Amino acid sequence: MHELRDLSSVIGLLTWDQETMMPPRAAESRAEQLSTLQSMYHQRFSEPRLEELLNTLTGADLPEEQRAAVRNMSTERRRAVKIPLRLVKELAQAQSLAVEAWKEARKNRDFKSFEPHVARLLRLRQEQADAWGHTGERYDALLETYEPGMKTARLEPLFEKLRAQLVPLVKAIAARPPPDRAFITGNTWSGDAQWAFSLELLKGMTFDMDAGRQDRSAHPFSSGANIHDVRLTTRIHEDNPFSAFFSTLHEGGHGLYEQGFAPKLHRTWATGAASMGLHESQSRLWENLVGRSLPFWQHWTPKLRTHFPKVMEGVSPEKVYAAVNHVEPSLIRVEADEVTYNLHILLRFNLELALMRGKLSTRDLPEAWNERMRQDLGITPPHDGDGVLQDIHWSWGEFGYFPTYTLGNLYSASILRSAEKALPSLWQNVRQGEMKPLREWLRTEIHQHGFVYYAEDLVKRATGAELSVEPFIDYLWQKYGPLYNVSRA
Ligand code: ZN
Repeated sequence: MHELRDLSSVIGLLTWDQETMMPPRAAESRAEQLSTLQSMYHQRFSEPRLEELLNTLTGADLPEEQRAAVRNMSTERRRAVKIPLRLVKELAQAQSLAVEAWKEARKNRDFKSFEPHVARLLRLRQEQADAWGHTGERYDALLETYEPGMKTARLEPLFEKLRAQLVPLVKAIAARPPPDRAFITGNTWSGDAQWAFSLELLKGMTFDMDAGRQDRSAHPFSSGANIHDVRLTTRIHEDNPFSAFFSTLHEGGHGLYEQGFAPKLHRTWATGAASMGLHESQSRLWENLVGRSLPFWQHWTPKLRTHFPKVMEGVSPEKVYAAVNHVEPSLIRVEADEVTYNLHILLRFNLELALMRGKLSTRDLPEAWNERMRQDLGITPPHDGDGVLQDIHWSWGEFGYFPTYTLGNLYSASILRSAEKALPSLWQNVRQGEMKPLREWLRTEIHQHGFVYYAEDLVKRATGAELSVEPFIDYLWQKYGPLYNVSRA
């Protein structure tokens, strides 16, 4: 386990370097290096001796975290050997062709040229789901990759309930006047000052800068080699600094999770996130639930003013709070606010499910997309570039990933509700810039456990409640009711 874990963390570091530091002419040699390491990894991971060892250990009398490590590694290995090499190769080839086709298609707003690629990837993923095995619902087999233990039958009613609650809230807000955002959009914001402030935010949220770092990249991401080496990136836009600040808080939330796994899990299959949804719950908790709260900006507005004295002159915490919670139905998922965001995800989830079940043809995707946008958000994409072609996920054939974003939002609200109960002075602490109590509570209840428990079980242990939409919906109404002067029917 140690050797394989080291190999994969080195692969991760090389990939991080590729996105941040690597000079352009190194691209080819980097591809060679990565391919060599990946085939070494694959060779070792598929050695028959490993299966014997895992079989011997399964059911052995081991400490809980070691039992989890054996369980997780066995599951991953079992799934890997079920996929014929031909399918692995075909998928890789289809993906790389599809990504190139997608870039062109999005630029030319031309879904027709991309359609054969997505149709091929869909067929291959259906085949892969059948090879992995399922009980009649192929989507379950794909979901398992990102959200171990989660089932479509559990998600479908949950998400339908969420949608029914979100659509009226979005309608009510859209009928109200938007907050004053002129101080943001009417100014230019120095990139250097943004960078300095974003590092202050990271330290403020107790991210350990001696066990991680932040750099710049075109698309913000986080990757962790281990608890003592967590790499984050952010991006700087001179016309809107809040893009950098919230992406720092988002990736910082991922980073705190990565720094918080128990040291005893190090270099085993029990370290790492319990699921992508749980990982996302940590980023959303810091970005939205904490980072877009009034107490947070009561502490951070004066600090922001020291970096931008002219632009921030006379701008109150209340004004920042209202501006960063601007809600408006919009076309692009990655730019959506926290209220409309989940409607973008539910749309993708329902379309993926229909595709996977054979109830929707890839040819009819644009129309189905646009129709659902009209129903849920009241807007129609002017062209497919801002509609069905906007995300890269389907060009990787990544069906089953989108729901983890919404699960993250649901988990985050439920987790924060428990933290509020356990820490009565939580918001007073946030108002004073004191984040350690919350970080410690998260570390004890969530982070340290890594992948010893399945995500849903772990959240149930931490919150005492079943996964549901209520904490998230309550949170939205409590916040946006007063902000937009709307009330729950
Ligand atoms: Zn994220």
